[in-house]
Amino acid sequence: MTITTHNENETVDAAIDLASTLREGDVVLLFGDLGAGKTAFTRGLAIGLGAAAEDVSSPTFTIMQEYRGGRLPLFHVDLYRLDDPREIEDLGLDELAVDGVLAIEWADKLPRPIAGAVSVRLAHGEDDSRTIQIDN
Ligand code: ADP
Ligand code: MG
Repeated sequence: MTITTHNENETVDAAIDLASTLREGDVVLLFGDLGAGKTAFTRGLAIGLGAAAEDVSSPTFTIMQEYRGGRLPLFHVDLYRLDDPREIEDLGLDELAVDGVLAIEWADKLPRPIAGAVSVRLAHGEDDSRTIQIDN
């Protein structure tokens, strides 16, 4: 499925829609350049799962953040600052997701694919538009 959004709220809404379909153990891989809307999309996932989402931001000093209080916990990982594949391997991402939903920004840095994951590809369009391709 591919959609076009015209502002951040529309991207959040697309993520809220996706969140309603997610189950325990699901992984959402987020692809796209800086500013494409990966973090905005993750905020929508948190909102859609019912977690407090006001502090969903790109984790600057922590690799992983957790948002609880919703239907399922959301684990949010940003691989932007990780360049060593072994460091990424050591995060143990496969086990992390088992009792919640795992969203991974800069998923193109993953050393190997995660089976069964949903891929979300965000790309800049004209002005503030973004095309969002969701493969699940
Ligand atoms: P990323 O995590 O991919 O680097 P962010 O979600 O942090 O991106 O930032 C996206 C930026 O683009 C925000 O400042 C947001 O307000 C802006 N923006 C403008 N239009 C859109 C849109 N259609 N969808 C998502 N974000 C948008
Ligand atoms: Mg981000």
